[in-house]
Amino acid sequence: MKMDFDEDDLSSFTDLDDNGFPVSSSVDVESHGEEVEGEMSLPVGDVCSSTSDFAIDFYLSGTNWSELVRDEGDEVPKNGEKVKKALVQRDLFQVWGISKSSKRPGVSNPSTPKKRQRSVIDDFASGSALVGERKGAECNGRSRPHSCPFYKKIPGTSFTVDAFRYGAIDECSSYFLSHFHYDHYGGLSKKWSHGNIYCTDLTARLLRSCLSVNPQYIFPLEINAEHVIEDIKVTLLEANHCPGAALILFRLKDGKCYLHTGDFRASKSMQLYPSLANHHINLLYLDTTYCNPKYSFPSKDDVLAFVVRTTLKFLSKQPKSLIVVGAYSIGKEPVYLAISQALGVPIYANASRRKILQSFGWPDLSKKLCSCTESSPLHVLPLSCLRYENLKEYLKTCKQQFQTVLAFRPTGWTYSERTASHLDLIRPVIKGDVTIYGVPYSEHSSFTELREFVKFLKPEKIIPTVNAGNAANRARMQSYFKEWLKV
Ligand SMILES: [Zn+2]
Repeated sequence: MKMDFDEDDLSSFTDLDDNGFPVSSSVDVESHGEEVEGEMSLPVGDVCSSTSDFAIDFYLSGTNWSELVRDEGDEVPKNGEKVKKALVQRDLFQVWGISKSSKRPGVSNPSTPKKRQRSVIDDFASGSALVGERKGAECNGRSRPHSCPFYKKIPGTSFTVDAFRYGAIDECSSYFLSHFHYDHYGGLSKKWSHGNIYCTDLTARLLRSCLSVNPQYIFPLEINAEHVIEDIKVTLLEANHCPGAALILFRLKDGKCYLHTGDFRASKSMQLYPSLANHHINLLYLDTTYCNPKYSFPSKDDVLAFVVRTTLKFLSKQPKSLIVVGAYSIGKEPVYLAISQALGVPIYANASRRKILQSFGWPDLSKKLCSCTESSPLHVLPLSCLRYENLKEYLKTCKQQFQTVLAFRPTGWTYSERTASHLDLIRPVIKGDVTIYGVPYSEHSSFTELREFVKFLKPEKIIPTVNAGNAANRARMQSYFKEWLKV
């Protein structure tokens, strides 16, 4: 997601289903669709082409940490004219000496420029990304498939993380999924047959129930336990993101240790994870969604307290109010759970959302769900509904019971530094009978949380996984990393 773009602001999607999933023509009609969240700098509503732009930009833009190499000479004569040859991204794993020269498609070999492997640039240029073409890339109808970028691969293994939109990936035998958000699981459907998928038990249930992925490919892994997969020790750890989200720790036989955060919100409690406290991390794949000092927001608990406080105050003045919380498929559950708890009321959600929420296997949540709009003054609606016109119409449908609407739009980052430590400075948008609050309930790390996590972990190298789509961003993030890792 873009740094200057509200992480959950997908309201410009014109084709959202009832749960706020963007509906794509190539997504199985049986599936619930997807949520776009995290990872890439995507102009909203154009997931595939933007993914392509991200990858092209990533490979074409170079800084001193991700160098570019050319074939012999910068320019070669052609028909009397000088034609510039395409730049090729070095494989950082090789640059850093943690990976041998690779014969994998999409990875260049800087040591043998004359006979380098076919690169991802070549594949883009010719429109014939070999891997995707052979097996059929599964990227929501994009006509030009592309190869899996190296930064989704774990060096020294045949593993990838969150790399499902590239079809079958050469030399990949195990596909890890960090969590059930679309920009991470995109490409998975009931047609998936490219290899084993490893994830948490909760994510596995969602893959089965929401995407109808063939269970023979799904391998749930118990969290906080060490599993051995292809001689690699793998541990999933709670990521403090959405339900089922995991950090993934890989310990190789040669002693190398790699941590992929997927999407996460760093917290002090992570410093107590034995597997993080006891192992030196050689390579950290970091969720850098808010890796900018301007992103400062309060703790989740503080935001929940604010939401409850605001609700009680509002109800004291307007007792016949409907409370609405906006949400996508999964994530932000604690917001409506906190209101439900404070008011002692059940939570209304439509059938498809109830099915998803019940699949979490959380008794406290399941027992609070109700199926009748009139049974509760607390309704969970798609975030796309959290607009004045929509809420005004929604209120009309229950006008006999409620006179006003108080709505909360939990988003990643909605307010300025000035209000960062003063939640009560948040002002709602009020129009007639509709009051809407944007509240900074973030499921990604703030800048200071990221800094603290990195300083604790002291990894040798860091690969940013979000907002790395242009050289300026990467350079800026690397300068932060350098500062944080100073001894
Ligand atoms: Zn996510």
